[in-house]
This record gives sequence, C-alpha cells and structure tokens, in this order.
Amino acid sequence: MTKQTLSFQAEVAQLLHLVTHALYSNKEIFMRELISNASDACDKLRFEALDKPALLEEAPTLEVRVSFNKDAKTLTIADNGIGLSQEEAIANLGTIAKSGTKDFVSKLSGDQKADSQLIGQFGVGFYSGFIVADKITVESRRAGLPTAEGVRWVSGGSGDFEVESIERAQRGTSVTLHLRDDALEYANNWKLKGIIAKYSDHISLPILMEKEEWKEGEPIDKDDPSKGTTGGGMVMTGEWETVNQASALWTRAKKDITPEQYQDFYKQISHDHTDALAHTHNRVEGNQEYTQLLYIPSKAPMDLYNRERNSGLKLYVKRVFIMDDAEALLPGYLRFVKGVVDSNDLPLNVSRELLQESRDVKAIREGCTKRVLGMLEDLAKHNALPKTEEGVTDVLSAEEKAEQEAGLGKYDAFYTEFGAVLKEGLGEDFTNKDRLAKLMRFSSTTTDTVTVSFADYKARMKEGQEAIYYITADNAAAAKNSPQLEVFKKKGIEVLLMTDRVDEWALNYVNEFDGTPLQSVAKGAVDLGKLQDEEEKKAAEEAAETFKPLLAKLKEALKDKAEDVRVTTRLVDSPACLVVQDHGMSTQLARMLKQAGQTAPEVKPVLEVNADHPLVKKLEGSVNFNDLAHILFDQALLAEGGMPTDPAAYVRRVNALLV
Ligand code: ADP
Repeated sequence: MTKQTLSFQAEVAQLLHLVTHALYSNKEIFMRELISNASDACDKLRFEALDKPALLEEAPTLEVRVSFNKDAKTLTIADNGIGLSQEEAIANLGTIAKSGTKDFVSKLSGDQKADSQLIGQFGVGFYSGFIVADKITVESRRAGLPTAEGVRWVSGGSGDFEVESIERAQRGTSVTLHLRDDALEYANNWKLKGIIAKYSDHISLPILMEKEEWKEGEPIDKDDPSKGTTGGGMVMTGEWETVNQASALWTRAKKDITPEQYQDFYKQISHDHTDALAHTHNRVEGNQEYTQLLYIPSKAPMDLYNRERNSGLKLYVKRVFIMDDAEALLPGYLRFVKGVVDSNDLPLNVSRELLQESRDVKAIREGCTKRVLGMLEDLAKHNALPKTEEGVTDVLSAEEKAEQEAGLGKYDAFYTEFGAVLKEGLGEDFTNKDRLAKLMRFSSTTTDTVTVSFADYKARMKEGQEAIYYITADNAAAAKNSPQLEVFKKKGIEVLLMTDRVDEWALNYVNEFDGTPLQSVAKGAVDLGKLQDEEEKKAAEEAAETFKPLLAKLKEALKDKAEDVRVTTRLVDSPACLVVQDHGMSTQLARMLKQAGQTAPEVKPVLEVNADHPLVKKLEGSVNFNDLAHILFDQALLAEGGMPTDPAAYVRRVNALLV
C-alpha cells in the first residue's frame, strides 16, 4: 500500500474538535485511554492465542511500554498485543464504529460546558491523544501477519490522516504523541509514573518504563576540586521496570483496595468520568466459583432505554479476558450495572451462544442479580443517613453531603436515574418481584419528589381505606390535575402518581403489595368502600336513578366513542371524566402503543358524569344536546392528555357555543 491521505468520518472530526477543546481541563486522561486500548489489545491477543498459540510469536509476555523523548517532544505508548492490519487501522482509527458514540456526537450542542459534561459519560478513547498532541503517529502490525504488512498512520487531528505500509518486526501497536508545547510536562518520568499509578494500577498486565537514575555532576576541573562540579541530573539507565501493580483489582482482598482505587477501576471499565454511586465486591464459593465486582453508576447513559444496547459486564475466566458486554450475566432490567465477573469454572472457549444456554451462567446471573438487589436495598435503607455502614460505599463528597442535608440520599439519586429501568423487572423477573416492588418509588398527591414507597403509602393509609390508589398519566402535571383525583383530594386520600412510560405496563404485573390491592383510580367504578358514608352512597344511588333517561340519551349520542355512560361520585369540580373497564387497557397505554407504531386494541372508555355539575344539569333540556354531549366527551379526553379523534369538529362545536 502506497501512502494515501484519507478523510475522517464527519463524526470523528466533530469528536476531535470537542476532545481538544472540552477536555482541556482534564488533560491527563489521555494516558488512561491509551493504556486501556493497549491493555484491550493484549487481552484480545491472549484470547485469540488460546486457539492459535503461534500468534504469540517469540514474545509471549504481553506488556505495555511507556517512553518519552524530551528533545523530540514525543511520548510513546507501545504494546505487543493484537495490533492492527492496514484495513483495521483505516477503519478503526478513521471512523466511529460504536453506535453509542455516534449518538453521543449527534447530541453535542456546541455549548462547551454542556458538552464536556456529556463527554464525561463516554469514552473518547484513542482520540483523546489529541488533547496533548498536535500530531499522532501509530505504527502497528497485526499478530500473525508478515513483517512487510505493518502500517503507519499519521494525523494532525484535523480533517484527515495518512496511511502507508511499513516493514515492522514487532507485533502490536505503538502510539507516538508529538506533544503540544503546552503539554511538554508529560515528557517526564515521575509525572507519567504518577498518572499510571492513578489510573492504570489495576491493569492486569505490566506497564514498563525505563528506569532513571540520579547522576552526580562531573568535576569542572579534574585537577582543581575547588572549582566544583557541573549540576547533576537524571539519566536513563536503559533498564526497564514495572511501574504498576499489574494485578487485576478484583483478585485483591477488599481490605487492600482503597475507595479511590475502586473508583479508578470503575472509570476504566465504564469509560465514565464520574464516580460510581456504589459497588459490591465478592468472592462467591459453592456450586459456581466466581468473583464479582459490580458498580452502579451515578448517571444514566443516554442510550439507557435502548434495550439492545450493550450491557456493562466484562467476563473473565481465571483472569483471562473473554468478552465485553456479556449480557447473559444480568437480566435486562439491570443493564445499567457495570463491572467484572471472573469465573473459575467456565471453559475458556465459551461463546456468546453458549453463555445463553449454560446452567452455570444462569447460576452466576442469579447470584449477580441478588447482589445488585442487595446493594440497592442497602442504599434504600441508608438513604438519608451518612453512608458509612458496611456494604455501602463510604466517603461522602461535599456534593453528596449537601444532597443528604437536603434530604436527598443516594437511593433517591439512584432512583432518579435508573428507577424507570428497574421497574421493567416487575414484569421480567418473577422470582424477585417482591423485592423489586419494595424498591419502587413514586410521587404522590401529597409528595412532589419521587420518594414514596408502597410501604410508606400503606403506613399513611386512612382508616377504612382498602386499596393503594394510583393514577397513570403522561406527565406529573396531567396526573396531579386529573379530574379522576377530585374525590380523593376532597377526602384527603393519597394517590400515587405514575408518570413513567413503563408504569402502565409494569403495574400489570403488580396486583397487590403486602396484602393490599393496587387500584387505578381511572379503572372501573369508584368504590371507596368504607371511606364513603351512608349519605353519600344514597345520594349517588338516587342520582343514578333520576339521571337514567339522560344517560340513555348520552349513550345514544356517543355510541361510537363511549362504551358506556354513567353517573359517578369521583368528580367534584369537573363535569365528566373517562375511565376504562376494570381489566381493560388504559387509554394511556393504548396511546403509547400507537405512538410506538404498534397495534393497540381500540379502547372505548366509559364516560362518567358528575350529576352535581351545572353543565350536566343543563344538558337535559338543551336544544343542542348532541353537540354538548360530544364536547363533554372530548373535554374529558383533553383533560387526561388525549386528543379528540376529530379536533376540527371539536373546535367547531365549541365556537358555535361561544358565538
Ligand atoms: P474504543 O477502544 O472505545 O473502541 P478507541 O477510539 O479508543 O475506541 O479505539 C478505536 C479502535 O481502534 C479500537 O476499538 C481498536 O479496534 C483500535 N485500537 C485502538 N488502540 C489500539 C491498540 N493499541 N491496539 C490495537 N487496536 C487498537
């Protein structure tokens, strides 16, 4: 291949611009990213070499070497891992293959501050080299290819890059950063060692640097010691030393790992730049022997709701990296969890397909699920307390302390980010349904924050109240102002407000909590049971009787729209509202399904009217009965966030009245 100049994919150019501008204040992360790439490359080779030992050539010890040249202003990170073929260099270093990163780039606003927060959630990977370099030279040869098939890739980090074939004896990749003038501090032994210790200590393969030694100055005049010596200085010794601990973090004993080390490891595996919210680290013995180190992030990634997205667990078998995103290790509703599982029993050659079917893996998944739920229960239990108890990550940052003083604990923080995903578990994981139900939080007619558990609600139930009442709606405002809540407000009965898209679906699976049934206030007739006094019951029955002829007329007028028309006691201020039959699909869910392009059964709601409302009283003798009936129905639909099927007709009818 002769030298050719190629353009970066548009997204790369955008990412590069952002990397060099937004990450300027946290320059040193480029080391973590490049060493992590080198380590991944070694992991990949180790794995491929299980089948093809010849790939290891004559250098079976995998390692990373970091070196610099002050005079040339360069810093080089070299590995003897899998390497890149010429095509791979073009594809992997010129485009963004990962859809997540593409999405991310498309969300950039151009506002530096907002963007740099966003970037915190993503690995910027290789391109982070351009934070400190104005030119990067990559030389590589893929393991197994002849030495004539090396590749050199060079770019100044703006629009394009150059690639050409080179002869290369060593397998693997070396990345040489040509340092910017304001980044020369990185061509320094102790500075680099410090950064490696900070970010890459736990990388399980050795990172080597050339040893430096202090050398005394020479006498200025050999014959006259009184003239003194030239200044001493550090010199390279030509000997290489390992500068990291080089043991996989999860294999060490808990007591030997500091909170900072746990956080640094989290950042390395998750490419997240913010600290994790909590972690759990255990060696599991018994049927299956494995180590798990699982983290809950503080912030949800942007593609959290994409159920196809990669899950975060890395699978190792006896310390050998097997695969990223081993989705079989956790159920879908825990896809936000990041971490590592290292099994002692699985075969090294497990494939994704095998993982799906393996009973051993099933046991690991159950174990991981239990641990994560345990960790969440712990967070919930200690929500408003300083987190120093065992099992919960201690050491609060100033920010967390402020949050706690404001009454917002770690569990609330977790729930804000991931609650909606956790809810999917109600319909997905029947074994743990009860534990999950206890972890759910909602806002309610008496509490604005999403902090009310079913247990809290039960503890506050009114004397004689027999159900946990809830309402589902598209958003909090619609829920709170829903006419269906009127009688509950009047009687001071708390109602849980459910406004997550998944609520409607998830609640299908929860009929009761701890012996108390759950009841949607928008389904079926209101039966407040013992909460209604005799007088109210009698009034309702009488109203139903006297309104019979009117109801029949309404029913006839609205026969295409409403399943039934009846008098209700649930309304106080509004003339009418819509409800569905007890076991029917709610109108919200039907609407959601339609929006998502799925087929939903036609839900014909029941129109309930308030016999005490002046509008309803006036209906009886009105000349434009038919129009009023339709307005009544359409308004009830609007009030719950729906849309009349024929909005123009609705407007025409209202205007006719106004005129
Ligand atoms: P990521 O590592 O998150 O996929 P990067 O931008 O860091 O993204 O790297 C892009 C790709 O370039 C990697 O997926 C890998 O295929 C390749 N790559 C980067 N560094 C190396 C390396 N040291 N050895 C081999 N391949 C590498």
